[in-house]
Amino acid sequence: MPETVVNLLYIVSAMLFVFGLKMLGKADTARKGNLISAIGMLLAIITALVSDNLIHWPWIVVGLAAGSVIGALAARMVAMTSMPEMVALFNGFGGIASLLVGWVEFQRLYTAGALAAAPWNDLVIIGVTVLIGAVTFTGSLIAWAKLSEKMSSRPILYGGQQVVNSLVVVLILAAILFVSTDLLPALTPYTALIILGGLSLVLGVLVVIPIGGGDMPVVISLLNSYSGMAACAAGFVIKNNVLIVSGALVGSSGIILTNIMCKAMNRSLSNVLFSGFGAGGGSKQGAGVTGEAKPVTVEDAYPILEAAQNVLIVPGYGMAVAQAQHAVQELASLLQENGAEVNFGIHPVAGRMPGHMNVLLAEANVPYDQLKEMDNVNPTIEMVDVALVIGANDVVNPAARTDEGSPLYGMPVINVDKARTVIVFKRSLNPGFAGVGNPLFFGENTRMLFGDAKSSIQGLVAEFKS
Ligand code: NAP
Repeated sequence: MPETVVNLLYIVSAMLFVFGLKMLGKADTARKGNLISAIGMLLAIITALVSDNLIHWPWIVVGLAAGSVIGALAARMVAMTSMPEMVALFNGFGGIASLLVGWVEFQRLYTAGALAAAPWNDLVIIGVTVLIGAVTFTGSLIAWAKLSEKMSSRPILYGGQQVVNSLVVVLILAAILFVSTDLLPALTPYTALIILGGLSLVLGVLVVIPIGGGDMPVVISLLNSYSGMAACAAGFVIKNNVLIVSGALVGSSGIILTNIMCKAMNRSLSNVLFSGFGAGGGSKQGAGVTGEAKPVTVEDAYPILEAAQNVLIVPGYGMAVAQAQHAVQELASLLQENGAEVNFGIHPVAGRMPGHMNVLLAEANVPYDQLKEMDNVNPTIEMVDVALVIGANDVVNPAARTDEGSPLYGMPVINVDKARTVIVFKRSLNPGFAGVGNPLFFGENTRMLFGDAKSSIQGLVAEFKS
């Protein structure tokens, strides 16, 4: 296939990626955006395969079949609550793939005896590909292990940690130098590449272990960006334009998402990466905040809701755990039939991944126009008769506004405590992901409906129906 045609097809693919990404930004166009991007990727893959005369088809077919089966099974079988872990693993696969591309290209030059004649900048790019790919791979595996509780999610901190990490980085930079030059005759470029790969794998572990489980979604988004950069670097290695473009798109969108999440948590990226947030946090009852909670039963909560004209539903991670979204949607419809205005207040970091609540509520067919962003519900929250807090905790913690000593201080939250009545659906007084106590539970206008959110909501639905 002529190179111009190949590049034209790559441009079409890149345009489909960009349009797809743009459409992913809105819930009602997200599905189509995903499909458009997938078509772009299919076009890119077919073009890459057809335009390369060296393709060994049997291997491609085996790879395509294995990848498709694993991808389809993972997408079908993984629970919504385990999505962040799956994304972490997939980022890791992206990282190892880029590492292997870099290594294979190096091996090709080595076997052909062309290493000495290869331009130094090509070898540096190979080194950088191996570096980012390896860091992404082991970093993502640690993120996966922390999120799936295969290892403790607590930050692992030790004295001199930054010094050790800096030393490893210096050694890695030196290894890249020796991969691309023969300054040190005793260290062949091949040995330097192996040292580089080994140290980079270690670095991936070192940079993620000091980060607490609560910050893992941010780290996963960052690792996603790294996997994009690794793919971009791999694109330079094999001189494939569409891989460069798609890698750069993943790299930059990952960084933008990381930034959005940090802002929503009122944290800087360096604070997420280096502060060991959550190292001392506990999972004890109330975590330091005390008071007298006022429990209610479903039967007590029903008349409060029956009389409400304006209801705000604020979902959080507990709704995902309880898989209560369908029951919540049913309750919202019954409330509307009863004459109430019902809105959903969506916090940008509610749940465990960006858009977590939007995805669950979309699955339950909650109309998009009922989903209101935090900034749109807070100004009028005093007008809300009843705020239903369904498995949310950190994202409605008023201490973020009022308690300068709280680790959450400064994080924007949905101010449900300012509603006339708040009903909190959760199983206990235990703190949420940040391990921080929540004074909302002891508020004058708060009622605690203890129990699994799905059962409690179903109880309310049954009350409305009877
Ligand atoms: P949260 O603070 O983690 O609280 C979730 C609550 O759900 C828990 O307190 C738990 O209380 C309750 N729960 C669990 N299972 C339940 C069930 N079956 N029925 C009823 N309640 C249940 O959740 P959040 O308010 O959504 O806040 C999200 C947290 O994750 C924030 O700290 C945020 O910064 C962090 N985070 C999120 C993202 C993101 O992208 N979304 C990224 C980074 C960090 P009980 O155990 O008492 O039931």
